[in-house]
Amino acid sequence: MNFSINGHTEVLKTAFLQTTLSRPDGAPAHHKTLDNGTRVEFLDTGILKVTCSGNASYRVVISAGVHGNETAPIEIVDTLVNEIMLGDLVVNNDVLFIIGNPPAVNAEARFIEENLNRLFAGKHLRSNTKEAVRAAKLEQAVGNFFEAGEQPRLHYDLHTAIRESQIEKFAVYPYLHSRDWSRSQLGFLEQCGIEATLLSSQPSGTFSYFSSHKYHADAFTIELGKVRKLGANDMRNFTAMTQGMRRLITGNELFQQRPSNITLFSVVEEVVKLTEAFKLNIKDKAKNFTEFKAGVVLATDEGYEYRTKQDGERFVFPISNVPCGQRAMLVIAPTELSLKEP
Ligand SMILES: [Zn+2]
Repeated sequence: MNFSINGHTEVLKTAFLQTTLSRPDGAPAHHKTLDNGTRVEFLDTGILKVTCSGNASYRVVISAGVHGNETAPIEIVDTLVNEIMLGDLVVNNDVLFIIGNPPAVNAEARFIEENLNRLFAGKHLRSNTKEAVRAAKLEQAVGNFFEAGEQPRLHYDLHTAIRESQIEKFAVYPYLHSRDWSRSQLGFLEQCGIEATLLSSQPSGTFSYFSSHKYHADAFTIELGKVRKLGANDMRNFTAMTQGMRRLITGNELFQQRPSNITLFSVVEEVVKLTEAFKLNIKDKAKNFTEFKAGVVLATDEGYEYRTKQDGERFVFPISNVPCGQRAMLVIAPTELSLKEP
């Protein structure tokens, strides 16, 4: 069915997406049971709970649109929900689908007032923007979903990046405090086409950190390539990820694959913008994961510079127009990890 967003007629397959984008600030809950026994509950705008008729082995959150202009993941969710509604995809795990920031999707913008993906893990309490209200609502929905069963918890938060990248598809593994990195999850991500994983070294306000830290979910922020407009994504690029999500939903993913090629990076420095004098010495067109030799100044600020410490350092997510006190760039370097089983 065609649905118009800001004059763009795009193809959205499901009532879930259509209702979400036509009522971005809230919509009444409703539910239905499919012929195959799967229960589908529209809990609020952008929040759809799917409960299988039998015993679930996992509780899975699949989120997209936390940044409104990152549309490919929204199309992935639309595709999966459509297949479930048609009965083509038989659901054998419990799944919560989330479209993070519907008003920003309509505005074709990363956010309306502030970056939603800095507001989780309670950081929304310090703010009263639209995004802060939404972060609180999403935390509640994910919390209720995870706490409704004893099964292992998984959360894949799907994104696309602002700039081109030397490594197109990569994941960010939230800081785990004293927990261990999961080898089977890295193996699964590799099957989903993910080429590299960044191992975070400190807490953050991301959606995946929230699920990981508060609910001990295996949770990841997943970057799938460059931002395009809704409908302009070449969905063939996302086949491996969509297939991985299908295996999860149908219960065919057993997490037995071990990682073989995935490159691991650790964070060398989190560069924070301290003052308005902050400057990045990175060209606008420079790709994420661009590699540097030691001794190159990547950022300067009042009384601060970041100079690469070793050959092979790379940057990701550089963005200089963030508010002071926020992260402007991550500097990373390849790392070897002895991963514990599983
Ligand atoms: Zn994003």
